[in-house]
Amino acid sequence: MKAQIVLASNNAHKLAELRSMLPGVEVLGLADIGCHDDIPETADTFAGNALLKARWVKERYGYDCIADDSGLEVDALAGAPGVYSARFAGKAHDDATNNALLLQRLDGVTDRRARFRTVIALVQGADEPRYFEGTVEGTILTAPRGTDGFGYDPLFMPCGWTRSFAEATREEKNAVSHRGNAVRALCTFLVGRE
Ligand code: IMP
Repeated sequence: MKAQIVLASNNAHKLAELRSMLPGVEVLGLADIGCHDDIPETADTFAGNALLKARWVKERYGYDCIADDSGLEVDALAGAPGVYSARFAGKAHDDATNNALLLQRLDGVTDRRARFRTVIALVQGADEPRYFEGTVEGTILTAPRGTDGFGYDPLFMPCGWTRSFAEATREEKNAVSHRGNAVRALCTFLVGRE
């Protein structure tokens, strides 16, 4: 029987990505284990939020669990929006308003360096939690470009690129992205343990 692990998400893309990278493991989503909880994300770091979610599942449902938390860090804004990326402009996941606020905050700012960061927490058996991190460095454009992707993708251009993340295919983005890099680090660890 395959080992089971829960990814603390109902995001179909994240689940499909992890399943394809871990063929030897049965990756379950929250819905698969009957978890419809509104899991609190009240920590002030990505690692803290990822751990809250992974521990929630392990403690209440008994499954080994992987959870991630991601966001955008802008140097000229002292790392904001960071863990508040989804709700930068107030309402969670209002991408257009978040992007408009980011452009407003950076109006006239020449240092537009930024990065996306993902931290994945793994809570497995009785082991101490482990963390896997991925980043991608880039700059914030002065106007949105492209229609693919989500969140801040239309404003983020990775270093060495001439297109925004929202102008890239999903494969091109995954090859360099913060989430891709964190998931690859996690999978290297898990496959090494199989
Ligand atoms: P989550 O932790 O993956 O849900 O990400 C939290 C928030 O960070 C999202 O709602 C987006 O605003 C932002 N974000 C994280 N990853 C990305 C990305 O790959 N592209 C654009 N925005 C992202």
